Amino acid sequence: MNVISYIFGNNLYLNITNRCMMACPYCIKYKWANDFHGNDLKLEREPSAQDVIKAIGDPTKYGEIIFCGYGDALTRLEEVKEISGWVKENGGKVRINTAGLANKYYGKNILPQLKGIVDVLSISLNGTNPEEHNRINRPMFKEESFDEIIAFAKLAKDYINSVVITAVELPQLDVSKVERIAKEIGVQFRSRPYLDEKEN
Ligand code: SF4
Repeated sequence: MNVISYIFGNNLYLNITNRCMMACPYCIKYKWANDFHGNDLKLEREPSAQDVIKAIGDPTKYGEIIFCGYGDALTRLEEVKEISGWVKENGGKVRINTAGLANKYYGKNILPQLKGIVDVLSISLNGTNPEEHNRINRPMFKEESFDEIIAFAKLAKDYINSVVITAVELPQLDVSKVERIAKEIGVQFRSRPYLDEKEN
């Protein structure tokens, strides 16, 4: 199966890539063999922007259209821009869930390219220092990643209306410390439950 989009709650989630800048052991890619509430999110091939637009249909039917990750959508920046631009033109609201490493990945500031076409940038920060972040998430830029994510979140405030740092309530992570970091940076914070069992 090639599940490009799926509904969860009031929102439509887009699954446009399985590539990611991190390899978190708790990711459902590894834990649940890509299965999210009956949706097999393993892509046999990455969909084109037009395939995704067709799969969305009417964006106003949903609270948010969310690029969500069993893969980081920002590895496909051009497609994200085309899809998000179309969603905004057609009255929808766009959120991107990301590992926060896109600027390091591309070697430049890509945030200006998202201005006006992304409403919410949700940046995952599961770690409170470089060493812990590297251990928990296995990012491709190793211990450099933590500072990169903090810099990305700070910079994002200049381009995106709503910037949120999220942390998963992992047993090995002090989520309250991540909340403090978010506050210091001046962005919102949201914790997410650790989906330890498939039934959750
Ligand atoms: S950042 Fe998200 S998509 Fe990427 S490996 Fe971690 S949990 Fe999976």
